[in-house]
Amino acid sequence: MMATEGWLVLQPNYRDSSGYGDEFLYGVRLKMVYRPGKDILFGVDALIRDGIADPRQLTIGGYSYDGYLTNWLITQTTRFNAAIIGAGAIEHVIDWGANDMPKSNAYFLGGYPWQMPTRYQEEAAVFEMNKVKTPTHIVTGGIDVRVPVAESYLLERSLRVLGIPTKLIVFPGQGHELNNNPWHEKIKVREELKWLQKYGHIFLRPLVGRKFLLFLDCWTTQTDLKKFRAVFPHQDSQLLVFPEGSTGHIQPQDLSLFRSWRYFHKKIEHYVHINRTEMNLNDRQYFINMHSIIHNQLSAPPFKNLIKSGFIQAKILNEIVGEINKPKDVCFKFYDLYCLAIRCEKRTLLTCAWCKRHLCYYHLIEDLHLHL
Ligand SMILES: [Zn+2]
Ligand SMILES: [Zn+2]
Repeated sequence: MMATEGWLVLQPNYRDSSGYGDEFLYGVRLKMVYRPGKDILFGVDALIRDGIADPRQLTIGGYSYDGYLTNWLITQTTRFNAAIIGAGAIEHVIDWGANDMPKSNAYFLGGYPWQMPTRYQEEAAVFEMNKVKTPTHIVTGGIDVRVPVAESYLLERSLRVLGIPTKLIVFPGQGHELNNNPWHEKIKVREELKWLQKYGHIFLRPLVGRKFLLFLDCWTTQTDLKKFRAVFPHQDSQLLVFPEGSTGHIQPQDLSLFRSWRYFHKKIEHYVHINRTEMNLNDRQYFINMHSIIHNQLSAPPFKNLIKSGFIQAKILNEIVGEINKPKDVCFKFYDLYCLAIRCEKRTLLTCAWCKRHLCYYHLIEDLHLHL
């Protein structure tokens, strides 16, 4: 399923897998996450070295034991942009005591918790959670006893406390195999693909449609076409570089486009302050999302004349335009409305210039309300 969305999938044959003899098979004993974790990273590095994988767009995921390993690896490295986890444990004490395989953890860790307390701690992601930076999606069956459902609650609560984006889906009536209701399997894949779409390409990549125009100043560091193509590999885009000495000619853009852009920004900032909205200002993704939303709103049909008028004032176009709508009238006319998203009653931040829905901060920016 991941491959259908363009992801290259590496399924490494790490230690604990069959086919390489007993030593390899039992090689995870006493280091049940550390050692296979190293094997997986070795495979990732090989793909990067061979130029097959893009180191800026790595994601990771796994179910069951692969969930344990994913949980562990996001504590060991921040190189993965997103993680999708299913039924994975993040510690071994409750896992030993509550799962339906009473021997497994005790075998893998060389004894019971009171015999090997240090090893139970060393091999458990929960004690290293403060190192996680990776947005993490979690699914589990509500009555899973192979990997107790409590492990997923523990993971989700830890990430929430640490402020890492996370989402937990518990499928009611499902055990470890998730095979009681085919819809659940479908929902699992659908939500995981959405998570990868949202966080997987996190490096400085504005969220724009397939077609767009990009204006750049003539500084040589900015007008590097190679860098540009690396950021927008799939877009049918065009790059316009302002020639040297042309700053004066683009001043009128300040009056229309750039002023409107600032207006949007200011409104979002005010909303955040007034409503004490939680957000992480250190998060680069926050800025990318916010500016992508502003770009997308200003690209909406109601602003066509507004954008055109800037080009006319700059004498780039020679046309007469009709009525000019400003963001103030299109998006910010009403304040005392409530978000139209399902089960959301937060105050509205703006009215979408595309679909006219009233949306709160969360449903506009965090949930990326884009018309691409
Ligand atoms: Zn909309
Ligand atoms: Zn909302």
